[in-house]
Formats: sequence, structure tokens, C-alpha cells
Amino acid sequence: MKKIDLKSLELPELKTVLAEMGEKPFRAGQIYQWIHQKKATAFEQMTNLSEALRVRLQNECELSAFQIADCQISKMDGTRKYAFLLSDGNIIESVYMKYHHGVSVCISSQAGCRMGCRFCASTLDGLARNLSAGEMLEQVYAMERDTGERVSHVVVMGSGEPLDNKENLIKFLRLISDDQGGGISQRNITVSTCGLVSEIRSLAKERFGITLALSLHAPNDELRRTMMPVANRYTIAETLAACDFYFEETGRRMSYEYSLVRGVNDQPEQARQLAGLLKGKNCHVNLIPVNPIREREYRETMAPEVERFKKELEKSRINVTIRRRLGADIDSACGQLRRRIQRGNMREGG
Ligand code: SAH
Repeated sequence: MKKIDLKSLELPELKTVLAEMGEKPFRAGQIYQWIHQKKATAFEQMTNLSEALRVRLQNECELSAFQIADCQISKMDGTRKYAFLLSDGNIIESVYMKYHHGVSVCISSQAGCRMGCRFCASTLDGLARNLSAGEMLEQVYAMERDTGERVSHVVVMGSGEPLDNKENLIKFLRLISDDQGGGISQRNITVSTCGLVSEIRSLAKERFGITLALSLHAPNDELRRTMMPVANRYTIAETLAACDFYFEETGRRMSYEYSLVRGVNDQPEQARQLAGLLKGKNCHVNLIPVNPIREREYRETMAPEVERFKKELEKSRINVTIRRRLGADIDSACGQLRRRIQRGNMREGG
């Protein structure tokens, strides 16, 4: 029998499960508190439950607690890159960053990815599987346990396409932002997508107060198609229309991500074209020099050209930031740590 994954359940669902076990409803509240507030990793820690109930939970349910497979800590700024081992042997990556305003973590939404973006390491081996809501939460909780620090901000920008796993993502967003649950304000949560148009529209209708970031990376369809296969499915015009709809529905200003690739998408003319697309929109642009991966020929734009690109956008009164690179000394582009460890595992396994 498949065990019930308790960390993925919202409180009313947990109440139903406990009722079906013949337990009183308040037990659900106690268990929910153990999972989300005390970040319990085992049922035996739940000392206000009877021994009999703990044994029963142990037999019929699971908590999806992770083991740390690897953790690299930056000597420059304390950024930590974690590799977690999942119960089925998959490895996923998460990043922990300390800023003056709090602690921000970057989590994965899938093991692997099937979107195929040319510059991204997460997609090189395709999609292994979706992560459950509990596995998205556990990345946050495991880093809180390991560091003893409370996480204040979450970005869903690790491996995977969150809107390709929309149902679990929505559940995760409800659990992490629930006052009795993860307790992180929706204003402090960002979800990044490569631009699945119908999913952007349906997420908008959920009316979360989270920030949506769109990975744009090119100012025209022709160039975007060479970088991101999703651009063959949706034009930039359709994608930006969905983003405008997201803003109208939620009142949350869009973020546009633009990874600068030397000689590919970083020319002043391309900045002007990008400005033309975004002019007049209530939005924010994040520029980030591409993080080169071994398997691809893309190289990053150098600082003076990044600055030049930024100035060009600012002429059109667009809000722009250049993303600060933390953990440069432990830097491996998204998905590279996972690949290295997963391969190591496979070799050990024969
Ligand atoms: N699938 C989602 C979220 C995961 S990727 C998305 O596409 O948005 C998070 C961000 O990192 C995206 O903007 C993605 O395009 C970018 N990214 C991936 N690999 C990168 C690399 N090697 N250098 C710079 N940015 C990269």
C-alpha cells in the first residue's frame, strides 16, 4: 500500500485522513503543527500523540524528510548549495542565500526538466519526475533545520518548470503561505516560468499575491526560438499578453528575466527592441550574465556590456536590476551539482 504523504496535505485534507483513521479532528491540528512549525522529520518526535497513533502513522504515512547528499558553502558570502536525496534515489538541488533583509532560498519544482532551454543544465537529461508539494516544502524546511535560520523569501527558480507541475505548485503555495503552515508571506515568494501561456492564465485566476517572473531572454521570436523550445509553441506577443493578464488579475508587477549571452542577445539594438516590448508596462527587468555550462557554447556578457544594456533599457524608463551573483566560488549553473551527484550515485549503484 502506498503511504500517505502528509506533508503535501492542507489542513482540511489532513483532518479527513485522521477522521478516516478514527481519530479526533484536533489530532490533525497537532500533526500539522509538528510538520510545518516544528519541522519534524519523524513521527516519534510527535510526543503529544499517543504511542499507538505514532506507530500507526509510521506504518501508513510518510513525512518526505530529505537526507543531505551534499552541501557546498561559499567562502565568499556563505551561500550554500544543497543536494538532497529523495526517497526514490532522485537528487535535487536547492540554494540558500543570506541577505541583509533576510534569508532567501531557491528551490526546485521538478527532478530534471523537459523544457529544453539551450543554456540550462537542468534540462540536459530530461525530466525525471514532478516533485510533490511536500517535497517543495521540505527543501525549505530542511535548509531551516540545517542552518537554524528562518527562511523569509522563497524563489521557485531551481531545476524544473513550475508551471509544468502546476497542481503541486499551487498546493505548495497554499501550504508555504498558510499562517499555521510555512508562514511565509506570498509577497516574499517568486515563481519563475519559461512561459507556458495557458498555465500563466490559470495561475492568475488563483489570485495569489506572489511575484511571477517570466524568462524572456530574447527580444524577438526568431532569436528566442534558438534559445528556448517553448518559443516554438508561443509567440512573445501571446506570452506578454498572458503576463499582462497576470498583472490585471493579481495586481502584482511582473518580473522579466533576461540572461545575457555574449554576442547573442546582448547588443544595444536588442536592448532597444526589448525596451519596445516592455515600454509602459508596470514591470521589472532582471539582467543576469549567463552562467556558462560545459555542454554548450554560450558565454556570458562582460560587466561593461551588461551596464550598457541596462542603460539602454533605462532610457525607456524601465526598472532594471543586474542580479548580484552570490556564491561565485561554488557556482555551478542550475542543475550541474545534481547531475554530478546523480551520476556518482549511478556509478556506485553499478
Ligand atoms: N523553468 C523556470 C524556472 C527555472 S530556471 C524558468 O524557465 O523560468 C530559473 C531561471 O534561471 C530562468 O530564468 C532560467 O532561464 C535561468 N537560467 C537557467 N540556466 C541558466 C544559466 N546557465 N545562466 C543563467 N540563467 C540561467
